[in-house]
Amino acid sequence: MRTAWIAEFMLLAFWLVMAALAWLISSLWLDIGLGWWVALAMALVALRHIRQMQRLDRWFRTGRTTQPPESWGVWGEVFENYYRLQRRYNKRKKRLARVIREFRESTAAMPDGTVVLDSDLRITWFNDAAIKLLKLAGNQDIGQPITNLLRAPLFDHYMRTADFGRSVEIDSPSDIGKRLAVRAVPYGQGQYLLLLRDITRVKRLENMRRDFVANASHELRSPLTVLAGYLENLSDDEQIPGVWDGPLDEMQVQCRRMTTLINDLLELSRLETDEPAESEEQPVQVPDLIRRIKSEAEAQSYHQCTIESDVDPDLGLAGVDNEIYSAFSNLVFNAIRYTEDDGHVLIRWQREKLANGDAIARFSVKDNGVGIDAKHLPFITQRFYRVDSSRSRPQGGTGLGLAIVKHVLQRHEAELDIASEPGVGSTFSCIFAEERLRALDPIDPGVADSSETNDAQRA
Ligand code: ADP
Repeated sequence: MRTAWIAEFMLLAFWLVMAALAWLISSLWLDIGLGWWVALAMALVALRHIRQMQRLDRWFRTGRTTQPPESWGVWGEVFENYYRLQRRYNKRKKRLARVIREFRESTAAMPDGTVVLDSDLRITWFNDAAIKLLKLAGNQDIGQPITNLLRAPLFDHYMRTADFGRSVEIDSPSDIGKRLAVRAVPYGQGQYLLLLRDITRVKRLENMRRDFVANASHELRSPLTVLAGYLENLSDDEQIPGVWDGPLDEMQVQCRRMTTLINDLLELSRLETDEPAESEEQPVQVPDLIRRIKSEAEAQSYHQCTIESDVDPDLGLAGVDNEIYSAFSNLVFNAIRYTEDDGHVLIRWQREKLANGDAIARFSVKDNGVGIDAKHLPFITQRFYRVDSSRSRPQGGTGLGLAIVKHVLQRHEAELDIASEPGVGSTFSCIFAEERLRALDPIDPGVADSSETNDAQRA
């Protein structure tokens, strides 16, 4: 048992013994029963407790700033423990206040805007940079819903879908021509930290670069067409000595290469610049489109390479026909380009069910070509990134094919999946979400064609 309690029991025992003694002594000349003496002893014990409670109450009322009252026994422990708890609490309070002060000072000094929102998306705090970026009116804006200030539908959609792994780019609500990158970081119980960054300069530079590439490509296109025309005339001209045949052929090849490069650059800059327009979307007849790509690839295949397809004839896609064509054909032509003689390419277009029950459509191109080392995979969708330029260039590769594929897929909310092993082959898959899938008219002639091919191949 704890000493404090032993002391309390000892005190009780002492008073009981005193009561018994008082009774023994008093019984010689007074007629007072033992019960009265015990009651008196108990009253004295109770008096002590009342007195201690009174001291505790007075200490509480003085604000607990002074040392606790001196006492012993259980009351001594109560005072001591409470005082210790109080000091610990004060220390914690000071530490928390310091952390909050430091957080506020550091975020206030941040060049990026920071806004703290509660679970109803109302502003509870902001720093100086946020005042400048959002033109906040100081403390009057505390408690205001952020959606009153940032009215962009994109921001609204971002907060509703809770896709906080990325930031969203919106026009500044106060400065025309200013672009902001906004990122919400959820924390605590439904609160958010909103980070705002002025990206106007970066966007301007990006646009300048894009415009420069697009303009330069446009300007190069006309002289190149003229050159190609003259080269064709010269190669048909009987009067040109035979010794020029080789150089003229080479010039034509290089001219075609430049034309392809310029076309790819223009396409890429269009994909980067133009916002995907829903009005341009239509049900894409994917089976027919694959049939066209396949016959084009077979016609262009400069080495022994078999191309097979396994296509769902009823499966279409909501999207932009020429963009999908461009992405899919780039993957098929790459498969042929990076496959040796006796290569085998399998094109698949099928509906699949994921483990979570969601349906997707997968367009995949599988080859048994040179494959790609895993270390290159994170970079191969970057423009002009080539694993082996000595192989890509002579075969007409521009280094832009996969960058185009990536942009097209982004515009169709689809994903690119790459599985590859050097010396074994590669599989490039485009994965489309269920919302994009469309059922096609089964008597489409192109579809009939491709299903026939499938049946023949399966047989
Ligand atoms: P390129 O015009 O050079 O083919 P891409 O952007 O289409 O440019 O591809 C980038 C690089 O990725 C290629 O240079 C090549 O090294 C690699 N690559 C693309 N597809 C394949 C494939 N099917 N098999 C092996 N390597 C590939």
